[in-house]
Amino acid sequence: LELKGVTKAYGGRTVLSPFSYEFGKGDRLGVVGPNGSGKTTLLSIISGALEPDGGAVEKGASTVCAHYAQTADGLPMDARVIEYIRGHAELTRMGDGSELDAERLLERFLFGRDMHEQRLSTLSGGELRRLQLVATLAGHPNVLVLDEPTNDLDIDTIELLEDYIDGFEGCVVAVSHDRAFLDGVTDMT
Ligand code: ADP
Repeated sequence: LELKGVTKAYGGRTVLSPFSYEFGKGDRLGVVGPNGSGKTTLLSIISGALEPDGGAVEKGASTVCAHYAQTADGLPMDARVIEYIRGHAELTRMGDGSELDAERLLERFLFGRDMHEQRLSTLSGGELRRLQLVATLAGHPNVLVLDEPTNDLDIDTIELLEDYIDGFEGCVVAVSHDRAFLDGVTDMT
């Protein structure tokens, strides 16, 4: 994954001046900066959720980005928990090398079997964010883009995420105001 001179402006206000970076194998980057400085914009360009105004994002043929965004918008609230996760992937490789099916992945992230048939509309705000995290990790991503993951996740879920990242072999780009989390999952800021 390579960013080549990417730029972004909103209404004439430059948020990203030409920025280039070539990801190396297993890079783990923390992105820090004041609110409004462009962190979410940069992450969205890296994941492909947002097009840069100029420059290019070049992806390898096998690059699969998983993007945990800050919003819970756009969730299919009528879908059932298990259907929603199966829609992302049937199998997920965990850091310890095990492959989990959707049921086991949900259980790993604290969704007991009794919750699998529930509709998303019946989940709490915190459960929806945890489910979004599960959907983000589902499958075999090799670039993990995490935008403020610690904001809405409880401590048990953050620890499960840290365990997952511990064994993750791909690249990680994370924005967080939580120093302990950043120190745990990234090598440079
Ligand atoms: P951060 O994640 O560091 O808080 P953002 O990337 O969210 O920063 O935003 C950077 C700047 O761009 C902010 O000033 C924000 O108001 C502005 N901005 C972000 N998205 C939009 C948009 N869709 N339209 C107009 N301005 C935007």
